[in-house]
Order: sequence, then structure tokens, then C-alpha cells
Amino acid sequence: MRCPFCGNVDTQVKDSRPAEDHVAIRRRRFCPACGGRFTTYERVQLRDLVVVKSSGKREPFDRDKLERSVRIAMQKRPIEPERIDQMLSGIVRRLESLGDTDVPSRLIGEIVMETLARIDTVAYVRFASVYKNFQAADDFDRFVAELRPQTAPEE
Ligand SMILES: [Zn+2]
Repeated sequence: MRCPFCGNVDTQVKDSRPAEDHVAIRRRRFCPACGGRFTTYERVQLRDLVVVKSSGKREPFDRDKLERSVRIAMQKRPIEPERIDQMLSGIVRRLESLGDTDVPSRLIGEIVMETLARIDTVAYVRFASVYKNFQAADDFDRFVAELRPQTAPEE
């Protein structure tokens, strides 16, 4: 963290403690170059992503919806729930790091497929087969509904 007084980059953390009821971490910093002291706060940063459908319609990104579709695709697959959580977090991080808060729905689908392809082929095929029909409909709720009957066969 650059010193706000002299610009030195090598400042030291002298003290870290939870702040704002553990929503943030408050750090007291010291600059050995100029002796300056300053405070920084560390917080979770969740960007407010907006999904842009091909129709041009916009809606807030909903991680729960994404999770639902992924879990349906992964039904009865030998994948640890923690692994699915990790995967979802990875996808969300990728979306957040795209550099734009507007994310085309098509891109989300592609990133999910790419990720599933690396983790579980069956889940990938389930997701991809429905995704292809979904691209025309471009409606996530309908997409999830369509995914269900194909992926939950009575075994
Ligand atoms: Zn300094």
C-alpha cells in the first residue's frame, strides 16, 4: 500500500483488527520512509453485475439462479458440494473481473459450460444440450425449468 504522504510503496502493517462488526478489517500502517501513519480498511467487494439478455433486457445478476442451474446439471453426479461452491465462486469471480458490470447472458452460459466441461462431462452435456435451446428463448427461469426434466430421470 503506497504511503499517501511520500509515495513510498513499502509501508508496514502495525495493527489489524475487525471493524464495523466484522464487516471490515481496519489496518494501521506505518511508512518507514517518512514516518507517516495512516489507516486502511479492507472489505468484501461485490460488484453489482447486470445480466444483459440478447433481447437487450437487463436484470441484476442472481448467484442463486446460477447455482440452481448448475446444481440441476450436476444432480446425482459424484461431485462434492464444496467443489460446486468453489466452482460457483470461481465463475462469479471471473464475471466480476471482466472489467464491465454489464455481462451478456450468453457469456455467462459459455463460462459455465467451459467450467463444467473441465469438472464433469455428464453435467456439461446436460447443461449444454439445454443451453442450446435456451439461447433462442433467452430466459433464465425457463432455462432452469427446461433443464429439470432432462436431468432428473427416475433411476
Ligand atoms: Zn511515507
